[in-house]
Order: sequence, then structure tokens, then C-alpha cells
Amino acid sequence: MPRAYSASGMSSKNATEMLFADTAAIERAARILKEGGLVAVPTETVYGLAARADDPKAVARIYAAKSRPEINPLIVHVRDLDQARELADFDVVDAEMLAKRCWPGPLTLVLPLKRGANLAPAVTAGLPTVAIRVPEHPVIRELLAKVPFPLAAPSANRSGYVSPTHPSHVRATLDRQVELVLDGGDACKEGLESTIVAIRSNRQWVELRPGPLDLNALHDELYEGMDKQGPITRKGRVGETLEAPGQMASHYSPGKPVRLNAMDARSDEFMIGFQQYGGDCMLSKSGDLVEAAAHLYDCLHAAAASMKPRIAVAPIPDEGVGRAINDRLRRAAA
Ligand code: AMP
Ligand code: MG
Repeated sequence: MPRAYSASGMSSKNATEMLFADTAAIERAARILKEGGLVAVPTETVYGLAARADDPKAVARIYAAKSRPEINPLIVHVRDLDQARELADFDVVDAEMLAKRCWPGPLTLVLPLKRGANLAPAVTAGLPTVAIRVPEHPVIRELLAKVPFPLAAPSANRSGYVSPTHPSHVRATLDRQVELVLDGGDACKEGLESTIVAIRSNRQWVELRPGPLDLNALHDELYEGMDKQGPITRKGRVGETLEAPGQMASHYSPGKPVRLNAMDARSDEFMIGFQQYGGDCMLSKSGDLVEAAAHLYDCLHAAAASMKPRIAVAPIPDEGVGRAINDRLRRAAA
């Protein structure tokens, strides 16, 4: 891929810089983004690959760096609800309430794209909707505060591979594709991509992707004892259009066969354990699903790097954030 970005002060045109994410580094990241460059940045979900969302060339570089199919739209990260309102229509029932309740945090809302919104068309892959969220991690928040534009930011990995929860994971597949990696260490306390919900005018919530935020629990809590505002449904097709175009069956691949619901490992398997099922890498010894989510990609990266040619994963209860873990595991195994 041609390297479009060159700015004074860059030590080398092709090398990826890695800087501890202090204020000086975040200022440098802001300058790179203003000039149309790419920066990997820690968030509470996974490390993101950020570009300014209003610049078609910068957004095109995200797709090129990740080899991401262009039909797969990007999530737009904004600093607050006011900035979100410049891009999306919040007149839909529940939209504003969910934003106020869950932001900053790991919930992405898919809402009608506002007329005249200053976004590169590739961000939404030409859809009439936009996926948007306010992240919680202090590094991306400080970065969003320093730039006047929103950031398009998918996970900072080659398309189809395991998502990054550590700066070394970013370099493993995107080295030399990105100008700067902001090193926030083990920053990703959630460890899984955000929950995505589309809100319909008929008050229905459609869960497009399960994630750290448990939509079922939230829906129950909000509407307990009340006339339900329409049930939650799972992602599906609306007419002939695929609702969540990026939700490929095969994704998050560690590059080797994955066997799910394994009680123990065969001799050629790297075992990812949970609770009573021990392993080479443990998701959670105590059976805590939140802890398991935070460790999932670390374990998949360790499994990918191991000498063992195959991977086995212990059973994970399909409840709460366990639903999101199983969603990722099924696609890692597909
Ligand atoms: P990623 O950036 O890899 O976390 O993926 C973002 C995902 O959000 C995409 O793969 C889509 O499934 C979903 N998404 C983004 N924008 C939209 C949209 N406008 N409508 C429906 N789904 C979307
Ligand atoms: Mg991704």
C-alpha cells in the first residue's frame, strides 16, 4: 500500500512509532490524525485503528490497512452526546435515553444518519444509518477532546484476525500500516468489542452484536413491571438487506482449528480453560464471565502463537457477557 502520510518530525516514513500514551504522545496522535494519518489507540473494549471520520482519504486508509471489505461499515467515536447529535438523528424512541444512560461506555447505537452530517461516505458503507458511541477509556477521550472531528475506529487488526487487547497485538498484524501506536498497556478492561443495538421506530431494539453491555438485563431493568417497549430481537435481515453487514460468520480467527465445549485437551491442543476446566491459558478460574471476556483475546493470541497446531476451549455459560464470548468463539471456530 502506498504511504500517503508524511509529516515533519516523523522519524521514518514506514516505521510504526510506539509511544507510552501520555499527554505529549496524545498531542502527537492528534497532529497525525489531523493530517490524515492512522493511529492505534487503546479503548475499554479493544485497541482501535483511528482515522478522522470526515476525510475520505483517511478513512480509505483504514480499509486498506486492515484489508477490510468495503461493505463493512465503521463505528464512529465521539466525545459526547452533543457531538453525536451532529451525526445521527436521536429522535428515535429510546435513543437519547440509552445514550445518556450508557455513555461513555461499550454500547454502540445504530441510528439514522443525520442529513448533511460531515462523514466520509465509506464510514457508513453507503448505509442511511450510522453506528456511533462515546468511549470511556481516558486515552481515547483525551484524544477526542484534542481534535475537532469524530474518529472512525474499527479494531486495530487485519480483517478476520483476533482483535487486539495489547499494543503488541496491534503490531503483530498492522506493523508499518499505522503511523503511531499509543501504548496504554493492558487498557482494555472489557476486552470485547462493544454491544451494537439498532433502534427501530416501532420501539424495538435489535441486537446486532452482543458485547460487554448486557442488553437483555438493561431492557428488563428499564421496563420491569411496565408495558414492554417492544422486545429485543437478534440481528437479522430487513427485507433483502443484510442488517449488520460486517457480522461475518468467520472472524476473530487465530489461524488454527478451534474445538469448542472441550472438557479437556488432546495432546496436540492448546487448551483455553474456564472454571473447573483447566488450561494453558485461563479465562477465569473463579468462573467470572466479565473476567473471562477481558482475557479472551489474550488467550486466543497466546493460542495462535503456541507450538500446538490446534486449540480447544472449555464450555462457557451462555448468559450475560457469556453470550458475547460465545459469539466470538463460534466465529473464531468457523
Ligand atoms: P468493528 O468496527 O469491526 O467493531 O465493526 C463494526 C460493526 O458495526 C460492523 O461490522 C457492522 O456490523 C456494524 N455497523 C457499523 N455501522 C453500521 C450500520 N450503519 N448499520 C448496521 N451495522 C453497522
Ligand atoms: Mg474488528
